[in-house]
Amino acid sequence: MAKTKLVKRKLSERARVASRRTAPTRRRAPRPEPRFVAVKGATRRDAGAVQLEIGRAGAARVKRAIYPPGFRWSVDMKPVVRSDLCMHAHVGFLASGALRIEYPDGCTVEYEAPQIVAIDPGHDGAVLGDAPAVLIEFDFEGDTVNRLGMPGSHRHP
Ligand SMILES: [Zn+2]
Repeated sequence: MAKTKLVKRKLSERARVASRRTAPTRRRAPRPEPRFVAVKGATRRDAGAVQLEIGRAGAARVKRAIYPPGFRWSVDMKPVVRSDLCMHAHVGFLASGALRIEYPDGCTVEYEAPQIVAIDPGHDGAVLGDAPAVLIEFDFEGDTVNRLGMPGSHRHP
């Protein structure tokens, strides 16, 4: 009796394996790029067309910002922020896409992923090309410049 049961289980196991092998492979939807899906442990907070996800890490904040193609700070954000230039320091990592930063003294800096980014406060910025720019940033809210040792504004030594 016990032996029969054992055999039966073995057979059913084999059958299960066989059916798994012969089951038609379902065509899965392509897995979305992790750079673009919702960030675990972060809070979504959009700013205009910019998709922001923000989380805490120690005393810092970690942010993923997705800037859409065609984005330009002076066109899309300036009317909302009401300052002439973006006064944030941006420190982090450009994971995707390309950006051009323009300072009021005429300096321009282009970043293309993958690239480390350190942008001084007081700039305009635009997305280059047809792909969204994905920027992973670290900040300390009001104390970002001091804590990260960034200049208060763009200057030349
Ligand atoms: Zn300059």
